[in-house]
Amino acid sequence: MSIKPQIGLEIHAQLLTNTKAFCGCSSESFETPPNTHICEVCTGQPGALPTLNGVIVAFAVKAALALNCQINERSVFDRKNYFYPDLSKGFQITQYFHPIAENGSLLIHTDGRKKRVRIRRVHIEEDAGKLIHHSTTLPGGTYVDYNRCGIALLEVVTEPDLDTSQEAHAFMETLRNTFRTLGICSGDMEKGALRCDANISVRDTERGTSTARIEIKNVNSFKFVQKALEYEFERLKTALISGEKTVSETRGWDQVSRSTVSLRNKEDDNDYRYFPEPDLPDIVLERTWIERIRSELPELPVDKQDRLMEQYGLTFSESKTYLDEPELETFFVEAVEQGLPVKSVNNWLLGEIQKMLKERGVTIDQTALTVSRLAEIIEWVSTGKTTNHIVKTLMPDLLDKGVALSQILSERGISQINDRAYVTEISSRVVRRNPEQAEAYLFGKTGLLKYFIGLVMKETKGQCDPYLVQEILKELLEGKNDDG
Ligand code: ZN
Ligand code: MN
Repeated sequence: MSIKPQIGLEIHAQLLTNTKAFCGCSSESFETPPNTHICEVCTGQPGALPTLNGVIVAFAVKAALALNCQINERSVFDRKNYFYPDLSKGFQITQYFHPIAENGSLLIHTDGRKKRVRIRRVHIEEDAGKLIHHSTTLPGGTYVDYNRCGIALLEVVTEPDLDTSQEAHAFMETLRNTFRTLGICSGDMEKGALRCDANISVRDTERGTSTARIEIKNVNSFKFVQKALEYEFERLKTALISGEKTVSETRGWDQVSRSTVSLRNKEDDNDYRYFPEPDLPDIVLERTWIERIRSELPELPVDKQDRLMEQYGLTFSESKTYLDEPELETFFVEAVEQGLPVKSVNNWLLGEIQKMLKERGVTIDQTALTVSRLAEIIEWVSTGKTTNHIVKTLMPDLLDKGVALSQILSERGISQINDRAYVTEISSRVVRRNPEQAEAYLFGKTGLLKYFIGLVMKETKGQCDPYLVQEILKELLEGKNDDG
């Protein structure tokens, strides 16, 4: 198809520093009582002077190196002037003309292939405060909370290299994982630690026509960014095909109507009357210091995923799960290093165990399960002492109680599970008690096998291997045929 979207992203990451960018106030802003972490600097009182928190520079350089950027040895802070009630200073300190880093790239995985997305720039800036329109505790009206004012942000701007909403999603995930690995951002979107604006235009590559560029702002989850982009692509595509004129504007995602809504026409960059911040010196970096930070960078997610796939023969999606869930990965690596077979470990960790962890909202290190207990599970199942089915039913205990499988089984008297004679005895009893169904089965109603399996499982309280039950029942039911 010749009609394609062009997508670029602007991501604001809240840096994990203890204090704000230019003052000593705590950078804790999520669910803190309003206006408790503020001072004359971050609220812009007359005469108050900012001082740069050096940790931010080190964090920005780490990010820039991980994003393969060119780092500018000299970068400059600028004032972005605008009025808004949540910005009491009347300007935001940012880096406009000379950002700390430019011209980078980030490798992402989509549809099993790799793609390099160019990064236009990375710069440091401060956050604004927050308006509270619907307070649950205060009388009606709009309130302003300046706790977030002055918190250090890193803004990452990509080139419009993303061709699909899935690629945009993959980019955001990879960036978040990278920043988490670097320890510079929590990546917690619900808490506003990572915010994404996306811009999209749609072009007809054959006819050489294109729509206006739309910015989608303030979307607070990766999923919604992806949905908003999908919606916008369809909307712009329709406009392009019908020849309808589109205007450059900022739109927001409305989860209720599942559509984007126009917020405002896009203001020009010039409106902000940027000029160099007179109260802060330029940031001047030494090459040797940058190189030291480079040498201390941890293994980055993209590299790690490649290594996991290669080292343990994992599939793309298996390695991705371990990448997204570091506690699970630690457990996996420990288990495999202790000699447990990769396949069995994966079956348990990425199957029943992960399902239960999700249900409980915990990570594996918060449960009582250990590698040696998993080793026992794998051994007992593989030697037929118990079954997958039984272990699954016991999983809540295995996760919560920290006791061994063998102990739970003996406490509950679950032992004869895979005993052929025992299963045969119960199964023949069940068949004897249901002669009509047994006959119907013989006359071709083979679906009744399930009915018999259900009865046996009920008799044995689900403690038998259903495959063994099925096998024995088939023999019994069809064996009758031979006799008769
Ligand atoms: Zn302050
Ligand atoms: Mn910004």
